[in-house]
Amino acid sequence: MNAIGHFIGGKHVAGASGRGGPVFNPATGEQSATVALASAAEVDAAVRVAAAAQLGWAATPPLMRARTMFKFKELLEKHRDDIARLITLEHGKTHEDAKGEVIRGMEVVEFACGIPYLLRGDMTPDVGRGIDTWSARHPLGVVAGITPFNFPVMVGMWMAPMALACGNAFLWKPSEKDPTSSMRVAELLLEAGVPAGVLNVINGDKVAVDALLAHPGVAAISFVGSTAVGEYIYTTGCAHAKRVQALCGAKNHMVVMPDADLDQTVDALMGAGYGAAGERCMAISVAVAVGNVADRLVAKLAPRVGALKVGPGLDPQSEMGPLVTKEHLAKVKSYVDIGVTEGAKLVVDGRGLKLQGYENGYYMGGCLFDDVTPDMRIYKEEIFGPVLSVVRVPDYDSAVKLVNDHEYGNGAAIFTRDGDAARAFSAEAKAGMIGVNVPIPVPLAFHSFGGWKRSIFGDRNSYGPEAVGFYTKIKTTTARWPTGIRSGAEFVMPTMR
Ligand code: NAD
Repeated sequence: MNAIGHFIGGKHVAGASGRGGPVFNPATGEQSATVALASAAEVDAAVRVAAAAQLGWAATPPLMRARTMFKFKELLEKHRDDIARLITLEHGKTHEDAKGEVIRGMEVVEFACGIPYLLRGDMTPDVGRGIDTWSARHPLGVVAGITPFNFPVMVGMWMAPMALACGNAFLWKPSEKDPTSSMRVAELLLEAGVPAGVLNVINGDKVAVDALLAHPGVAAISFVGSTAVGEYIYTTGCAHAKRVQALCGAKNHMVVMPDADLDQTVDALMGAGYGAAGERCMAISVAVAVGNVADRLVAKLAPRVGALKVGPGLDPQSEMGPLVTKEHLAKVKSYVDIGVTEGAKLVVDGRGLKLQGYENGYYMGGCLFDDVTPDMRIYKEEIFGPVLSVVRVPDYDSAVKLVNDHEYGNGAAIFTRDGDAARAFSAEAKAGMIGVNVPIPVPLAFHSFGGWKRSIFGDRNSYGPEAVGFYTKIKTTTARWPTGIRSGAEFVMPTMR
């Protein structure tokens, strides 16, 4: 059995806590590894290693750090397929989808290559007579990233390249469900020239997270995961005077207007609702059918959902792989049971799917509910599986109200040919990322990613320009070079004279 430890000080290190957790291949249901679960003492040791290494890294000119990122990008390109394979073997998503995940992470590395420009300061000469002021951004020190199972590489790469390029040391605590790919990324960062100890991976569960949250040597925490855990991380981290950003759960709506191109809309809903088995924070889980479009929409969707090709992620024929764990599969199926009990109409039922030769894998087929109402749990809660709910509303105003009244506000999309409706939606919808005829409007790396409402805690989005702000602090220097004239001690507030 493969034993996954930690990656600290540039080396693989075995776990020392005596605790470990199983890692499974969701396609077969077989255990593939045991991952070490760090103790508070191991976290403390990793923070010390990172703090010592950070000093030299912070003193390395940004241009040199950028060159390391260029090298890292080259290595990611070279090893993209192998990394994607590691993702598929532990997460379950299809190999093509996993390759896409690596590329989206790589795009953040490309943005981080511009760090000398991004860290440029501001300078004002003559703020007073013979006095100049300049502001520059400095790294925070040791920062930590706590990441979810659903993008085991990409979400860590939303954080690490930016944190490192800004001159910090980074401690990555991946999900204990699929940790292997993050260890591979750590090896590549070392190979690219990030000094040993500047990037460390510490595997673990709540014990490791709590140790990071309380550790005085950790200056900031970036978290991505569920809302309950994110709120806990935000409040606990802030109580320990840390800078915290926590990007959390979602229930993304797609408003389908009566004039939408239905073939395009259905294609978009299939990819956005069932891609990665719905295990994406930007997955569309609610289709809001406006006016008379509902019957036509459901009639076109149902056969497509029923015909989804479900199979192992490494099979190139598969459109959708298994869910991540047996427990998660049971949870998603139980939501479908709840929806039926609540009175929603289950148009396509994927609960019974079995795959020959993969009887122990964590598979289910796509599910489609119609006549879902806002009081139902399947509408209110994040299911995080291949379950799409159709809610019928009479008009545009009711659709926007639905989006805005929901507790989550990660993404929201509208499908229409009406520019006026689209423009109004973009202005009025209370969500952080809006798509107009784009189902999953994830911003590219030179913008930033983040939701509204209970989809985020903290005031900085992830990656892009926001990350430069999050991973640095400003120092403003005021200087003068007096030429022999002494004005004596001043006991009042200096003002311009
Ligand atoms: P999760 O909250 O269970 O776990 C996330 C991380 O927190 C993991 O590293 C895990 O080890 C740790 N953790 C779990 N329970 C903890 C606890 N009680 N105390 C401290 N740490 C704990 O999330 P997940 O199931 O891995 O990921 C799915 C969730 O992530 C979904 O809700 C999804 O919407 C969300 N997500 C959000 C975004 C975003 O950008 N908004 C992106 C991806 C995923």
